[in-house]
Amino acid sequence: MTVKTRFAPSPTGFLHVGGARTALYSWLYAKNQGGEFVLRIEDTDLERSTQEAVDAILEGMSWLELNWDEGPYYQTKRFDRYNEVVDQLLAAGKAYKCYASKDLLDEIRAEQEANKEHPRYDANHPKIKAVNEAAKDGDPYVVRFCNPKEGSVVFDDQIRGRIEIRNDQLDDLIIRRTDGSPTYNFCVVVDDWDMGITHVVRGEDHINNTARQINIYLALEAPVPTFAHCAMILGDDGAKLSKRHGAVSVMQYRDEGYLPNALNNYLVRLGWSHGDQEIFTRDEMIEYFSLDAISKSASAFNTDKLLWLNNQYIKNSDPEYVAKHLQWHLDQQGIHKENGPAITDVIQLVGERCNTLVELAQQSRYFYEDFDDFEPGAAKKHLRGVAKAPLSLALEKIKALTVWNTENLHQVIADVCEALEVGMGKVGMPLRVAVTGIGQSPSVDATMNLIGKARVVQRIEMAIAFIEAREANAQ
Ligand code: GLU
Repeated sequence: MTVKTRFAPSPTGFLHVGGARTALYSWLYAKNQGGEFVLRIEDTDLERSTQEAVDAILEGMSWLELNWDEGPYYQTKRFDRYNEVVDQLLAAGKAYKCYASKDLLDEIRAEQEANKEHPRYDANHPKIKAVNEAAKDGDPYVVRFCNPKEGSVVFDDQIRGRIEIRNDQLDDLIIRRTDGSPTYNFCVVVDDWDMGITHVVRGEDHINNTARQINIYLALEAPVPTFAHCAMILGDDGAKLSKRHGAVSVMQYRDEGYLPNALNNYLVRLGWSHGDQEIFTRDEMIEYFSLDAISKSASAFNTDKLLWLNNQYIKNSDPEYVAKHLQWHLDQQGIHKENGPAITDVIQLVGERCNTLVELAQQSRYFYEDFDDFEPGAAKKHLRGVAKAPLSLALEKIKALTVWNTENLHQVIADVCEALEVGMGKVGMPLRVAVTGIGQSPSVDATMNLIGKARVVQRIEMAIAFIEAREANAQ
C-alpha cells in the first residue's frame, strides 16, 4: 500500500502556524513512508472562502517548501461527484430525504430543551414523520445520512490511542442541503476515498467529525483511513494560540525575518520529539518522523526558542540558502547587494550575531551603502580628539597596503597600537565607528576587509574630518 496523506485547509484566512504544523506532519509522514502528499482546498463554504486566502495558503506552503505531489484540488470543482455519491446512498437506502423545515426543527429543539432532553434530530419524531409522509414532489428537502442507531464508532488514533464514540450521540447528518450543495463532512469522505488517502493527520477539533465520517465510509464500503489527531498549540500564556499572540500567519514569520527551515524545525518539535535532539536537517526530520511520537498534550509556543533556532539556522545553514531568503529583506530595506561584497561573505561574517534576517539585512547595510552621518552615540564616544592620531596613522598604513586581506588589516591595527603605545580598543573602536558608522560590528579587520579599500579610505577620511570639525566647534 502506498501511503498517501493530505493537507486540506479551508481557505477562510491565511496559513497559520497550527495549519502549517499539521501540513508539515502530513508531509513528513508521506515522505518518511516513501508515499505521496496531496493538497486539497476545502472551499465548500462559499461565503467564508476567498481567493485571497487560497493564494495565502499556497504562498505559505511554497515558502515552507512543503511541496505537494498532487493538487491543489478544489472541492467546489467536485460538486457533481459528491452529488453522484449522495444519489448512490439514496438509492441504496443509506440516506433519505427530509422535508422538515428549519422552523419545525427549531420548534422540536425548543420542546426537547423544555423537557430537559438532549436536543437532537430524530427522524422518528412524530412531527418530522408526519411532514415527510405528506411531502410532495418539488417540496424542498435536505438529504440526511442514516447514521447507525446502535453501537459505537471505534478507531485507533495513531496519537491518542483507541477512541470510541457512541452512535446515539451522532445525528443523521445532512449531506446535501436544500439548495443542492453537499456538506463539509460528506465531501471530506468522498475526497479522501477518491484520492486514495491512507492517513489523515489533522487537529483534535475534528475528532467528532471523524466518527461521523467513519460511518459514511462504512456505508460506502470504502476503506477507512488511519487517523492521527494532533493536540492544540497554546500561546506562551497557556491560552489557545490566536491572533492575540502576535505573528500567527506563516508569512508574518517571513516578514519578521525567520528562515523557513528554522520555522519548520520549530514546528516539528512543537509536539513531536526524537530523543532530546533539537535541530534536524530536513532529511533527518523525514527519516526520524513517526506519528506515534507526536505528543497527546497541547504544546506551548515559545518565541524565544524560535529566535534561538533561527539564529542557529542563520549561522549554520549554507550561506546560499540564507542569501536566497535574505534577498527579500534586502529588497524591503532598499539595499542593493550589487554595490558591495558577495552577500554570502557578509552572511558568514555578520550572520552569527543576528537572530533574524531583518537584523542581518540591517547589519549588512554599511557594506553596500555609503553614509553621511555617524551614529551620534557611537561618534560622541569614539570619534574624539584622541582618536585622530590612531585614525590618521591607520589611514596612512591602509593606503599603503598592496595586498588587501584580513590578516594585513589586523597587522595594521597591531602596528598602530605599537607605534602609538595604545591598547587595541583605542584604535579598533574609532576605526569601527569610522568604517561602519555604528558602534557594533564583527571584528573590525574582517569587517574592513569586506567593505573594501576605497570605501574604508573614504570613510576614515570622513571620520577625521568629523573630529576636526568637532574640535573646531569646541574652540
Ligand atoms: N478543512 C479542515 C480545516 O481547515 C480540515 C479538514 C481535514 O483535515 O479533514 O480545519
